Amino acid sequence: MPPWQWATLVGLSLLPALVLAFDGTRFWQLLVLSLSTWLWLVWPSVGARRRTLQLVLAGAIGTSFLIDAGVRGFLWQTYGALPDSSMVVTALANTSAIEAREFVLAYWPGMLTWALLSLSSMGLLALLLSRWRRVATRQSAAPRGNWPTILLLTILLMLAVALSIKPWRKFHPLVFWPGWTKQIVATRANWNNAHLQRADLARRASEQRPSLSANGPDTMVLVISDSVNRQHLSLYGYPRQTTPRLAARQQHDGKSFKAFRHAWSSDASTIPALDKLFHFGEPAGVPRHHLLALASAAGYQTWWISNHDDLAVDLQHAQLARHRTMLNKVPGRSAASLDRAVLPVLEEALRYGDGKTRKLIVVHLLGTHPHYRLRHPPENAPFKGAQDHVVKQLEQNGRSARTRELRNDYDSALHFHDHVVDQTLTLTRRYCKNAGWLFVSDHGQEVGSVSDHAGHSASSADGYRIPLLIWGAPMRDVPDPLLNRPIRSDWLGHSLTRLLGLQWAGYRPERDFLAPDYRWQPPRHPVRIDYLS
Ligand SMILES: [Zn+2]
Repeated sequence: MPPWQWATLVGLSLLPALVLAFDGTRFWQLLVLSLSTWLWLVWPSVGARRRTLQLVLAGAIGTSFLIDAGVRGFLWQTYGALPDSSMVVTALANTSAIEAREFVLAYWPGMLTWALLSLSSMGLLALLLSRWRRVATRQSAAPRGNWPTILLLTILLMLAVALSIKPWRKFHPLVFWPGWTKQIVATRANWNNAHLQRADLARRASEQRPSLSANGPDTMVLVISDSVNRQHLSLYGYPRQTTPRLAARQQHDGKSFKAFRHAWSSDASTIPALDKLFHFGEPAGVPRHHLLALASAAGYQTWWISNHDDLAVDLQHAQLARHRTMLNKVPGRSAASLDRAVLPVLEEALRYGDGKTRKLIVVHLLGTHPHYRLRHPPENAPFKGAQDHVVKQLEQNGRSARTRELRNDYDSALHFHDHVVDQTLTLTRRYCKNAGWLFVSDHGQEVGSVSDHAGHSASSADGYRIPLLIWGAPMRDVPDPLLNRPIRSDWLGHSLTRLLGLQWAGYRPERDFLAPDYRWQPPRHPVRIDYLS
């Protein structure tokens, strides 16, 4: 057998581990990336020493794929988590030797299975590599003829393309794991810092001596969604029926359910938007308060129920809550965890306690964050392939077929989102006598309205345009003209403390849109916005 056939067998020896550890697109990505292990063995070097070097490098790269598959396979099977998920990173950054031992004792059968798979594949790899070396002489070099050359060039091209695309490249074990190690070290360093910051926030909050008024709500549910542009909600006048449930609620329950018409986020992405929302609009670097720390100090029990996997959000906000549930263990936009996963956890939180516990429950949704298609179940896609007036309008405005398709996906995701958000309110009303409920998005989304672009957008008003819905007894006193006030999400904390019935020294009525003394000031956006649009 010539060396190129042995080289191919070397590549095939990785296959069982890849098949078991990855599925779908990820499997094909890894398969292409793993070509870097064996492809160059097709051309054995002339000198014996260089051939040895070739063998050692191929062995090392191949081994990295096998270890990678073993670790990822184990984590996915045991937790449904990726190694760079917030759960795994924080657990590892915060683990002592004793905890590590307990972990191994608890999970050794799974670990052993994956380790055996990796090790046996490594044995096979070593065997095939030594065979390759034996036959790899100058006489029997690369395969000759037309079709092997064409095939090899095609494979080479695929590899080059895969390595040039960042989301693909980052799954190459030799790229991923060094970065991952750095992340663990950095998180470990941050950990103490974040811990101190949280202790500091708690101390500063109690210094404010916050108090609760007797007529405040027993429960406040704060639903924070992601990437929802209010202009796409039928509740706000969008021609497609994207929010049938919430719209029906507004019709039947208009007195205590209010949709504020002109809410704007301070930022076009999650991390800075949430940072400001929870810190009352104060920038980092100055001494500031956190809504959750303040609510805790005042006597609220706090919850953070999240379908996000984000290390920064976890460290800066979620960890301040007394009860914390992180449902999604896949970071980034490829996460496929549907938001409805929060509902049973919310129900549990609403039932918690003896009826006297005052609760602040934060529900953090993925909302309609890209990829839109992953934000709804495939069978719940009412606008898939739609050719209605919305699509016609986009066509007239010169939007590409891709953007039109993404608009359909986005609106389908909103339709499913309507169901989840509406359920959070149904549950709140079912379990609480005197509750409040507030729904807001962290930032907006541009989906072909202004330009031929779909995604986060710092350069258009749609990137900041958000919905704001509030339900509860205090809404009965809100006069209609107040719904037309422009509102900024970074000041929302002041209105939230009012809704929580929480008095504290740092409250600023001029930033509370529910207060008579409210004074609007436009946030600093890098784009001109008509805030009454
Ligand atoms: Zn976001």
